[in-house]
Amino acid sequence: MDGLMKGKRGLIMGVANDHSIAWGIAKKLAEQGAELAFTYQGEAFGRRVKPLAEKVGASLVLPCDVEDSASVSSVFETLGKEWGGLDFIVHAIGFSDKNELKGLYADTTRDNFIRTMVISCYSFTEVARHAAALMKEGGTMITLTYAGSVRIMPNYNVMGVAKAGLEASVRYLANDYGPRGIRVNAISAGPVRTLAGAGIADARHMFSYQQRNSPLRRTVTIEEVGGSALYLLSDLSSGVTGEIHYVDSGYHIVSMPTLEELKR
Ligand code: NAD
Repeated sequence: MDGLMKGKRGLIMGVANDHSIAWGIAKKLAEQGAELAFTYQGEAFGRRVKPLAEKVGASLVLPCDVEDSASVSSVFETLGKEWGGLDFIVHAIGFSDKNELKGLYADTTRDNFIRTMVISCYSFTEVARHAAALMKEGGTMITLTYAGSVRIMPNYNVMGVAKAGLEASVRYLANDYGPRGIRVNAISAGPVRTLAGAGIADARHMFSYQQRNSPLRRTVTIEEVGGSALYLLSDLSSGVTGEIHYVDSGYHIVSMPTLEELKR
């Protein structure tokens, strides 16, 4: 099927480089005719994001740090002025101090707990509020989550708590905005080698464990996450909202490692 996103305009938040999940999503959307705008966090990331944005013909590339509400408002003011409306957003933003993405969750500090929650959880709600104001004819939003929200993943710690809050936000936002024809969903991706992913202690072990123990016996690519995002952001999923959609080679359905794994 071609041109699924033709005539649709949307904002991609969270590209850091060409390994980013948001980049895998952006490529799929652009292939299907979407017009894209991108945000980047600070000038160092800007230097990587601008050439990527150019590759997919993005019309706007704007700075945005979600720790600063004024920076978030300014992005949507610009979108309002330049586009007048918005059809979709992709929120692929997460952060926690890597010194706390190891050891015990119980040792999480107050400061890092708050910072992690603001960046990785609250920012989606704030962005959704601004985006919804521009979605006059309905729209779609997605965010990225991880199964550490519902099950214990070693070292994921406070990020798991933030992702649990993020997933609950998806359901509340879906209910708030559903009557206006705006759908809100999340993709729960399996481990992918990205900058953010590398901040988690023993990430390589998580990656190879999933490769050996998921039903598909492999991890997922950013293009596969992109394909599922295309479904959730296009009219193909017009009856779907408030959903946490797993794109993880089926890992979340497994309760026990294989016998070979136990013997390792
Ligand atoms: P990434 O490092 O490529 O992307 C993370 C993005 O968050 C970066 O673009 C960074 O600039 C942005 N960010 C962090 N703090 C910010 C701030 N204050 N303001 C604005 N932007 C900020 O890594 P990724 O793995 O592609 O992460 C994207 C999303 O996917 C995150 O929410 C992450 O938790 C989630 N996720 C990742 C994996 C994985 O294994 N990599 C699995 C499931 C979910």
